[in-house]
Amino acid sequence: MTYIDNLTDSKLESLIDYKSVTDEDEKEYLYPHIDLFPLKEVPKKGQWLDAHPEKGQDYLTFTKKDANLLNSENGKIYLVPLGTFEESVSPNLEKLRDYCYRYFCIETVILEPGLKHIEDNKTKQSYQYLDNSFEITSRINQYSDKLQLLTTDVLETLAMIKINLEDSYCVVAVTMDDLYPQSSWNFVFGQADMNNMVAVFSFARYSPRFYDLFENQNPLDKDDYNLLVMRSCSVLTHEIGHLFGIYHCVYFECCMNGSNSLPESDAQPLYLCPICLRKLQYVSKFNIGERYKLLYEFFISTPGFETEKSWLKKVLKRYIGLGVSLDINLEDNNSNNQN
Ligand SMILES: [Zn+2]
Ligand SMILES: [Zn+2]
Repeated sequence: MTYIDNLTDSKLESLIDYKSVTDEDEKEYLYPHIDLFPLKEVPKKGQWLDAHPEKGQDYLTFTKKDANLLNSENGKIYLVPLGTFEESVSPNLEKLRDYCYRYFCIETVILEPGLKHIEDNKTKQSYQYLDNSFEITSRINQYSDKLQLLTTDVLETLAMIKINLEDSYCVVAVTMDDLYPQSSWNFVFGQADMNNMVAVFSFARYSPRFYDLFENQNPLDKDDYNLLVMRSCSVLTHEIGHLFGIYHCVYFECCMNGSNSLPESDAQPLYLCPICLRKLQYVSKFNIGERYKLLYEFFISTPGFETEKSWLKKVLKRYIGLGVSLDINLEDNNSNNQN
C-alpha cells in the first residue's frame, strides 16, 4: 500500500506536470518508471510520515509559489566549516563540496578563510572571520558530555557573513560539533533559516563513534568512515534541497523523504524521484543526463556508495544514448569489486 492512495500513472504524470515536458530526452528521464523509482509505502509506526503526516508538494505548486530562484548574481553555494574537520574521523570537505556541486549543478565553494575557532569559554565559543569576531553560545550536553553549539546563534552569524557574499545563493555551515536549537532540547541534526538562505548541519552523530563512552582519537575503520561520508552527503543535499524550496517527498522513495531516525534515513536513497528532480532542475537548469553522469563519476571514485552506484548504473544503461555522450565505463571489470 502506498502512502498516497491511487497513484496511477496519470496521477503521477500530473504531479510531475509531465505533459509540459517537451524535450524528447527529458521525457525519458522524467518518466516515473516504477522499477527505477519505487513509490513511497505506508510508513511503519514511528517513522516520519506516521509521526508527521504530510500532504506533499507537486511540481506546479513548487514552481508557482515555493521555489527559491537563482539569478546570475546569486549563483553559488557556500560551505562554511565550523570548528575542525580532522582527517579520518570527519568527512573530507573537498568531497562534500564536490558532491554538492555534482548534485545541484551549482558552483559550490568552501568559504575562505573560514570561521576560525579562537576561544572556548565553555558557555561561549568565539570565532574569527576576516576582521570580525563572532560568539556562539555553547554547552556541554548532560548525556553525551560533548560540546554543543546553539543553532540560532550560528544562523545569525551566517546571515551576517552572507550579507557580504553577494554571489551566494545559500550559506551552509557544516560542523563535527553537536548542535542544539534551544536549552530544553537534547540535540538537533541541523536547522535552516529560509528567509536568510542560511543553514547549519552537524555530522557529529553520523559517526558510529559519537555514542562511545571514551574519547578515541584513532582513525575510524573503513566501513564506519564510508558510512559517515555517505550520511553527510545525504543530509547535506536533503537540507540544501529544502533551501531550494523543496518540501518533503511523500510520493516516491527519494532523498527528500522526511526521516525520524538514523535507521530510517539510512534506508532512504540519495537519488531524487522524478518530481523532486524536476523541481531541482527548474531552479538549477541542468541537463539531467549530464547531472547523472557527474554523479556516476563521483560514485565510482568514492567508497561507500555501492547502492547508489548500482542504481545509477541501471539508470544510465536504460537511457544510454540520450543526449549525453556516455563515454564512461558502465561495466565492472574490477575483479575485486563484489558488486
Ligand atoms: Zn527534511
Ligand atoms: Zn521526491
